[in-house]
Amino acid sequence: VALGANLGDRARTLMQAAEMIDAAGGLAVRMISQFIETAPEGGPPGQPPYLNGVLELDCRLSPLALYETLRSIEALLGRNRAREQRWGPRTCDLDILLLGDMVVRTPELTVPHPQMHLRRFVLEPLAQIAPDVVHPVLRKTARELLEALG
Ligand code: ATP
Ligand code: CA
Ligand code: CA
Repeated sequence: VALGANLGDRARTLMQAAEMIDAAGGLAVRMISQFIETAPEGGPPGQPPYLNGVLELDCRLSPLALYETLRSIEALLGRNRAREQRWGPRTCDLDILLLGDMVVRTPELTVPHPQMHLRRFVLEPLAQIAPDVVHPVLRKTARELLEALG
């Protein structure tokens, strides 16, 4: 799971997100990357920098149940989608990057996350905690995907 925040006390929000995920039924946090500060990509100009990180979970939920749990944690942490612009500032963004070897393509959910292999702010923390994890579609490890960004 990728964590991102660019409003409020970002580090506190990301730690709270990790704690809430760990406390949710069927989920346990196994690893937490360092949080890195990154420049916003896309979205409206002038938004503040992000803090990004990645979690490795033990997950006993279905993909959709995991997605719904993450959405509810985003909301509890103050995310208000009704007021948001696309890729605009947000208190907390929780995206599913990988679910083992599963490939999911439903209206709500695409896993692996369709942008993950293009995003340094995802691949850097991912390669830190799981350098050898394999992207099941591209068949490359996190480390290889990061190196491919140059
Ligand atoms: P991006 O997906 O490019 O990082 P974002 O995180 O800013 O953009 P959101 O507004 O948080 O976008 O979510 C947009 C939609 O993405 C959600 O409504 C959700 O249904 C969908 N989505 C598709 N695949 C995933 C995934 N793997 N993890 C989280 N959301 C996903
Ligand atoms: Ca996102
Ligand atoms: Ca998201």
